[in-house]
Amino acid sequence: MKNFSNYTDYDTKEQLRFESRTVHGALGTEPLTGAVSMPIFQSATFRHPELGVTTGFAYSRLANPTRQELERTMAILEGGIQGFAFSSGQAANMAVFSLLKPGEHVLLSDDIYGGTFRIIDEVYGTYGIEHTFVDMSDLDAVRAEIRPNTKMLFVETPTNPLMKVADIRAVADIAKEIGALTVVDNTFLTPYYQRPLELGADIVTHSSTKYLGGHNDTISGIVVVKEDEEIAAAILRHIKSHGSQLAPMDCWLVLRGLKTLAVRMDRHNENAKKVAEWLRRQEKVERVYYVGFPDHKDYEVTLRQTSGFGGMISFAVDSVDTAKKILRDVDMIMFAESLGGTETLITYPTTQTHEDTPKDVKEKLGITESFLRMSVGIEHVEDIIADLDRAMNG
Ligand SMILES: *Cc1c(COP(=O)(O)O)cnc(C)c1O
Repeated sequence: MKNFSNYTDYDTKEQLRFESRTVHGALGTEPLTGAVSMPIFQSATFRHPELGVTTGFAYSRLANPTRQELERTMAILEGGIQGFAFSSGQAANMAVFSLLKPGEHVLLSDDIYGGTFRIIDEVYGTYGIEHTFVDMSDLDAVRAEIRPNTKMLFVETPTNPLMKVADIRAVADIAKEIGALTVVDNTFLTPYYQRPLELGADIVTHSSTKYLGGHNDTISGIVVVKEDEEIAAAILRHIKSHGSQLAPMDCWLVLRGLKTLAVRMDRHNENAKKVAEWLRRQEKVERVYYVGFPDHKDYEVTLRQTSGFGGMISFAVDSVDTAKKILRDVDMIMFAESLGGTETLITYPTTQTHEDTPKDVKEKLGITESFLRMSVGIEHVEDIIADLDRAMNG
């Protein structure tokens, strides 16, 4: 009979390939009962047999078996020593920026997710942490913005919504020269397509609300630390103090989402490529932002560091009226915030994801009122195109 492992042994499946590891996780089966689906341990606290003896769990803010399985699985998939599951992507990024001290400086991608902008501008900014936004796809610009007190380079790649691509290895090399940390928000591509820790980054963050969960049914976030025990301890201390850990039910939803990550990403990737090519042929479309176009300015970097292009496309149409008509007339496709789920969604970045980005910054970047972003789902691609066609040209 197979000897089931206990909660302390895990990652016994090192020989498996990535796709198999998403399915089988860290422990995979629950060690005591053999349950194939890791149960939702809906318990706040854990009984101790006697003084000084513990099952490894004490109180669910610190550790919970369902959360531990998700955290270990994410550490395995990204290639780090420790993972952490948060109540949202925002909470995950809040924890990462808490590694900075007053007087220190962080460089961030210029068209970064609006919520991340808010964290650094409105929250940590008031605690004396300095920041500069820079085009991370331009390494000379990155070097030019380095200050003596720069301690972190926070990279989103591809960026949201302009699909600029940063060379993770090159950015991490610059960070290492000055003793700063490299953090990559890997939400858009997931470890299936891009593994920043293997490219030199120190920390990866995710909004697992998006592709990792994959079904638009839970808000959650992930941090994975590559190798530094002190950083991992600081992130754990942040969770313990802020209570921003992910609840067991939601951990289970993300674990379930992960099992199909590879097949979903393949379909997102395949569909997005066809939709991007179709969009490019439309008279009312002025520009399509998609990292899979061979004439994308960062295409070489993309080919070097990723194994797929993902499901995200942005596009500018000929007028505000066309943008409004698309948002009103789509039927199967939904006008809704978020991305990365099975359903195709269209968003209006200027008033949704990037509402808090200053107007002049948005204008400079090209996030205008005729700019749309689409998360291409896993429906039949002809249905997605037909719906867009009707909404845009009908
Ligand atoms: C959605 C998103 C976030 C924030 O995550 P939530 O789960 O919504 O809190 C952070 N970064 C990126 C790139 C995102 O798309």
